[in-house]
Amino acid sequence: MIVGIDLGTTNSLVSLWRDGGVTLVPNALGHLLTPSAVGLDDDGRMLVGLAARERLSTHPALTAATFKRLMGTDRPTILGERSYRPEELSALVLRALKADAETFLGEMVTEAVITVPAYFNDTQRKATKAAGELAGLAVNRLLTEPTAAALAYGIEAEADEELLLVVDLGGGTFDVSLLHRFDGVMEVRAAAGDSWLGGEDFVDAIVAAFMAERGAGLPPLSRPAPVHAALRRQAELAKRTLSEKDETVLSVIHDGEPVEWRLHRSRFESIAEPVVARLRAPIERALRDARVDPDSLSRIVLAGGASRMPIFRRLIARLFRRLPVMHINPDEVVARGAAVRAGLVERGAGLDEVVMTDVAPFTLGIEVATRRGPRNNVRLDGLFLPIIERNTVVPASRSEMVSTVEDDQKAVSLRVYQGEARLVKDNIALGQLSVAVPQNPAGAEQVEVRFTYDSSGLLEVEALVASTGHRDRLVIEGNPGLLGKEEIARRLAALADLKVHPRDDLAVRTLLARAERLFEERLGEVRAAIGEAMEILMLALERQDPDEIGRARTDLAEMVAELDDTFFL
Ligand code: AMP
Repeated sequence: MIVGIDLGTTNSLVSLWRDGGVTLVPNALGHLLTPSAVGLDDDGRMLVGLAARERLSTHPALTAATFKRLMGTDRPTILGERSYRPEELSALVLRALKADAETFLGEMVTEAVITVPAYFNDTQRKATKAAGELAGLAVNRLLTEPTAAALAYGIEAEADEELLLVVDLGGGTFDVSLLHRFDGVMEVRAAAGDSWLGGEDFVDAIVAAFMAERGAGLPPLSRPAPVHAALRRQAELAKRTLSEKDETVLSVIHDGEPVEWRLHRSRFESIAEPVVARLRAPIERALRDARVDPDSLSRIVLAGGASRMPIFRRLIARLFRRLPVMHINPDEVVARGAAVRAGLVERGAGLDEVVMTDVAPFTLGIEVATRRGPRNNVRLDGLFLPIIERNTVVPASRSEMVSTVEDDQKAVSLRVYQGEARLVKDNIALGQLSVAVPQNPAGAEQVEVRFTYDSSGLLEVEALVASTGHRDRLVIEGNPGLLGKEEIARRLAALADLKVHPRDDLAVRTLLARAERLFEERLGEVRAAIGEAMEILMLALERQDPDEIGRARTDLAEMVAELDDTFFL
């Protein structure tokens, strides 16, 4: 069975194509959304999902979240005594989803279609694939999130042909894609976005405003303290509440005293204005690249949890002079599309064949030097020569010829970059390859450089020396954001040694983590009562007495449910 996985910044989901439709798989807690959070429990075992997210405010140094934003970098996250790469943290989430799907299906799951933001660059995509491998999943395809959303909407569409604009505002990324669906073809016409813009930026804006208004007695954000994690949680909750209501109150406890701030939706919207302004450019760019008039769009489809914000929907309505469509739950729409894709790979019943094309989100090219001046005596280095231009339909293969620039040059070094800038220093370096050439006068030796971009958006580079017929392939390496094959094998072994809480244990761990958060959030008698109920449960767990555990668990669960008015998934 191939599963579909939406590996999100905030939450992740696993889905299947079964009996002619999409099934979303519940996790061990019975939830469809699994927070993309991992962390060490007090006994040194790893927790994944809600239990870890609940510990973000109580144990910030032992917990990690939003690591999708680090994918494609080598920035380590230290949890306890070990340091983790972003791929490893993602792999722990993927492993938990794999286990959920296996329990649900009663069979092993070894293959997956994983979604990535359309705007993920080559390094970020390869890192996602590596995370899949570290989780024991062969990544059958990477599917871009907007394409997934379009597939989910496409299977329910009545018209045979439509031009869809998918606007996806997730936790950490913003993607805009224009898709054309006709005669069983789903073609991406243009993609644009910002991989550093999402719902989290709205939370940052609220946190900063809170600090400006009420932060006088609190430690500054530059000096991280536990109260900041509690404040972030309050800001997240306020943002969500303001999607439904006009007003909310943020409250954190500092030095035993509550610090409160009443926030009205209109004030939130003025705080958020600079973030909203950044959303405009990618939308305009996608339309311009595809040469499409906004009036010719059939539907504007919203995806991503943050698209629930009224200020966002108003922006879209204003730009397009019509209301966007959002009847599929925006948290689920990408996972639903991933299941459709998985079904198509398996040729699932109830699915008409869909041919899919995608586009390269960035221009890919190499560094070149050129000679200018009266006698060609000035050498200009660091210029970017585009080979596959952005929004070229992929799979694609293109080549360019480059020549030697010095007499007796022994090798041509090909440095591969991704980006739109004229100078390579302003683009992202992907890797390099050095090709040996016979020593001859400048310009005499030529190398054909071929770029091939596959349907998952992964790049292969090939160089052919014209005079010798020698061919070299670039295995992109030397890029700190990428794991090599050996490194993946080594890390796989290390992850296997990691002690992870068994799936059946997660419900009770989550309850304890949630109770601990409440303990820190509350004061006085309430806090003492929570503490006592927690101790009773922990003692029962130690004694391993099932009846006692059952009673203590129910008591604590009831207390938490009654007190916790700030819960969200
Ligand atoms: P995703 O990456 O699609 O899971 O989206 C997660 C983002 O959606 C996070 O930044 C959430 O804070 C945000 N989000 C979820 N529900 C709401 C809501 N009701 N109002 C505003 N933002 C939300």
